[in-house]
Amino acid sequence: LLQLAVPLNFIGFVYREIRQGLTDIEQMFELLEVEAEINDAPDARELDIRQGGIVFKDVHFYYDPERPILKGISFEVPAGKTVAVVGPSGAGKSTISRLLYRFYDIQQGSITIDGQDIRTVTQKSLRAAIGMVPQDTVLFNDTIAYNIRYGRPAASEEEMKAAAEIAQIGTFISHLPDGYDTKVGERGLKLSGGEKQRVAIARTVLKAPPILILDEATSALDTTTEREIQTALDIVSKNRTTLIIAHRLSTVIGADEIIVLKGGEIAERGSHAELMQHDGGLYASMWDRQREAVQAEERLKQVREND
Ligand code: ATP
Repeated sequence: LLQLAVPLNFIGFVYREIRQGLTDIEQMFELLEVEAEINDAPDARELDIRQGGIVFKDVHFYYDPERPILKGISFEVPAGKTVAVVGPSGAGKSTISRLLYRFYDIQQGSITIDGQDIRTVTQKSLRAAIGMVPQDTVLFNDTIAYNIRYGRPAASEEEMKAAAEIAQIGTFISHLPDGYDTKVGERGLKLSGGEKQRVAIARTVLKAPPILILDEATSALDTTTEREIQTALDIVSKNRTTLIIAHRLSTVIGADEIIVLKGGEIAERGSHAELMQHDGGLYASMWDRQREAVQAEERLKQVREND
């Protein structure tokens, strides 16, 4: 019985921590996913955020020493600008977002925000400055209003609804029979990937952090959803330092700089127009492949319709 009591106690502890102490969804990820290896330095200070400029300098990182993932990556996201990271599956794109959020420490190089190495500041202040829209958003078994308010529990009803409108999910919610009081999550209404991502964007709008990380969902979205998410992002990322981890290419066209990652190194970098001029380049050929895939899909659709 004692053996059983301990884990139950622990689960109770985790549950209470989640219910009581956390005001932020990201802190829940921290609690559930990350090994306790990342600790604040004894003399850690609060991150003093001014404009929110990010610099990755010669960053080396591996999960397993036998398999380096990033081999000396340097780039900058100037304050208020948008940088997108693209590249083949497994290239290390999402890893970059995890490192900025300090889920892991790097082995060599530095990551700084407004000149402060992220290892020298408290994790709490670092994460308070960053809004993370993850690939797969976890929704609580509670109302939509609760889920959006999680970004800033003290927000008023009007602010919460305005955030939903900005995130292009307001109309969808208002058409639900119970509106913002609709229960979602595992035991409530199941939202699609695109809807969940827009709830996460609404949360981030409420939190209004100086830095935004968007880790795009890998799953394909229909064109309308894709456009709505794009509109939401354009509004949210305006004048905010934004790092987009792009698994699709359509989101990156307007980025100030696109970083093409391959084999742990930066293979190409530049604006969309610059990279497209590079015939036979990695970025240009990624677009060719995407275009071919879309065309093939359209042909398949036509064949099916004619059958
Ligand atoms: P995708 O576009 O497929 O999502 P990605 O470029 O975002 O890929 P990452 O998620 O950054 O890739 O992963 C880079 C590599 O690191 C992959 O080979 C992956 O298997 C490995 N990896 C990711 N997370 C871990 C982990 N926690 N432990 C060990 N290896 C990991």
